[in-house]
This record gives sequence, C-alpha cells and structure tokens, in this order.
Amino acid sequence: MAARTLRIGLIPGDGIGREVIPAGRRILEALPTSLGLKFSFVDLDAGFETFKRTGVALPEKTVETLKQECDGALFGAVSSPTTPTKGYSSPIVALRKRLDLYANVRPVKSVAPTPAFPDPIDLVIVRENTEDLYVKEERTYDAPNGQGKIAEAIKRISERASSRIATMAGEIAVRRQRVRETTGGDAAGKKSMVTITHKSNVLSQTDGLFRATARAALEQARFRDAGVAIDEQIVDSMVYKLFRQPADYDVIVAPNLYGDILSDGAAALVGSLGLVPSANVGDGFAIGEPCHGSAPDIQGRGIANPIATLRSVGLMLEFLGQEEAAARIYKAVDANLAEGRLLSPDMGGQARTDEVVEDIIRRL
Ligand code: ATP
Ligand code: MG
Repeated sequence: MAARTLRIGLIPGDGIGREVIPAGRRILEALPTSLGLKFSFVDLDAGFETFKRTGVALPEKTVETLKQECDGALFGAVSSPTTPTKGYSSPIVALRKRLDLYANVRPVKSVAPTPAFPDPIDLVIVRENTEDLYVKEERTYDAPNGQGKIAEAIKRISERASSRIATMAGEIAVRRQRVRETTGGDAAGKKSMVTITHKSNVLSQTDGLFRATARAALEQARFRDAGVAIDEQIVDSMVYKLFRQPADYDVIVAPNLYGDILSDGAAALVGSLGLVPSANVGDGFAIGEPCHGSAPDIQGRGIANPIATLRSVGLMLEFLGQEEAAARIYKAVDANLAEGRLLSPDMGGQARTDEVVEDIIRRL
C-alpha cells in the first residue's frame, strides 16, 4: 500500500507553544512506517508576537494555507496582552470561526488511582463552539429612573448546531467503545454513554431546544445499534456528580458556556494542565491544541510538559481517521506516565521537555 501523506500546519504561537509544537512534530515523524502514513509540515504564524511584529494576530496567509493545503494542524498557545490592546483579538477564536471548527473536544484521563478517585477517570467533553452566549451580542443601557445601568447578552441556540454537536458526541462514543473492546482490560466493561448537559428547567426555550435536539440526534439508529446510552443532566447537579464520581462519565455534550466551565473544571481532576489535550474539530478538519496557555513563567527553559501536545496530536489524528496512529501515541504516553521515571517538573520530576519526548518516542 502506498503511504498516505498528510500535510500538517504548525502554529506554535507564543511562549511554551514554541517548545511543545516541535515536540508534536517529532512524534509524528517518529511514528512507525508500518502505519502507512507520511507527514509533511508547513510552519505558520499567529499570536501576540506576530501581532507586535506585523499588526495582525492571525495573518491571512495562515488561514489560506490551512484551508488550501493542510489536512490538519497543531496550535500551541497565544499569550494575551495584559492590558486591552487595540486591534488585537485571539487568533484561535478567529481560526475556529474561519474554518467552522464547531466542536471543542477535551478528553480527561487520570494517570493513576488516588484516594479521592480510586476508579480510573476517562471521559471526554464535547463542547459546542459557535453559539450560545459566545455570539457576543451584548448591550448596555440606562435603567429607567436613573437606577444605574443594565447590561444584557443574547444566548442563541440553533437546531443545526445542537444536532451536529450531539452527532459528533455520538460518533466519539462509538469510537471509544470500539477502542475499549479492542484494548480489553478493566475498561472493556465500561458502558458507552453520552450525557446531555443543560439547564432547561430554567431556560426552557434555549436549553430546552438544545436538550431535545441533542436527544433526537443521539436516538439515531446507528448510535442505538452501537449501544450508546443517552443520559441527561442539569448542569449544576452535573458539576456535583462530575466532581464526586468522575469515573461514571463517558462522553459529555454541552452548549458552549457550560462546556467551557466543565472542561476547565474536569481538567483539574487529573492534575497538571500540562497533561490535558484538546481538538478543535469541524467537518474534515481538526486542529490539535494543548489546553494550557503560553506559560510565561517557564518559557524558554526547556521544561514544559509536552504531553498535552502529544495527546493533542493523537486527537488530531483520530479526527483525520487515523485511529491506529493515535492509539500508538496514547499508549506510549500512558506508559511513560505509568513508569514515572522521566517526568517534567510540573509532574514532580526533573526531566526536560526533550527527554520526555524521547522516552515517549522510544515507546512508540
Ligand atoms: P496564558 O495567559 O497564555 O494562559 P498563563 O500565565 O495563564 O498564560 P498557563 O499557560 O495558563 O499560564 O499556565 C498556568 C500555570 O500552569 C503556569 O504556572 C504554568 O507554568 C503551568 N503550566 C501550563 N502548561 C504547562 C506545561 N505544559 N508544562 C508545565 N507547566 C505548565
Ligand atoms: Mg492561562
């Protein structure tokens, strides 16, 4: 079989993005040739440094190259200016819009059992990424009778966005089930389930529409036949249960704002930010992105934990249909963590970024 070549855009951005994105490239180059995959790379600019140099945070060339040449991309991090800066807006937010990456996918997986969480945590949050309160339609006006100001914001929920995000959650649930069945072990018995998150007891129209549409999408025969159970929870009680019993969850689907909050909260369940990956996903395109920021406090020291990025590489590959390559990376990362000999300082170790990457590459 002729090797398939995937072209990957590399957008390191700022701070430790410049240290971890090269690690992402290295792992792709190190994948065994028996997988029948090859990679070519194109370096692309974006971020606050780019803005300071050129006056634009997201150059048009970056967007066009991604659209026209690339199969997927890796995005590092961007630092945000500490004071409001005229003309600057987040390039990753703009990229999600320009490429219609309507889902933010964030897996959360524990390293080892702890007294608080004896059962393994292995869940994924699928956050809608285009609407809800993030349409940013806000206004401020004077209250009648001089009683100060009033500000309000639009929360917009559409059937189309709710349906496609729930469908993606269903597809992810099916894929996870398949992986559990083939890897076996303790996880093999875990049931496949999508939990719909909402607050429709209060917001009966907006969250009501999300809830009903998501449920209808998940009731499709292909998900039912694959054994995907549908669960739903009101967001506040969901937070409580998620933090008490995270092992009970499999796939969580949520509108934009609840998804944002749940994602950061769930990341705290598993320790360092340096471990948690994400992917921005649309139809036929995915950008892997570590959840951490540019970490100015450790930048340039070569000690950033590369694992969030390496797992993001795996996620990107999954959404490009390369599940086997993704599984290789996840397994190698898990083996590095399980052995615990070469860990970066945020994990209590002393290894440098390169040493962690080399150890993981050895395990591919
Ligand atoms: P930004 O504004 O870009 O988000 P920040 O100051 O909020 O920057 P984060 O990147 O969000 O910094 O990181 C928060 C903390 O977690 C910092 O102390 C940082 O050093 C640490 N951290 C984040 N990512 C990593 C990583 N990959 N390896 C080690 N430590 C990390
Ligand atoms: Mg931050």
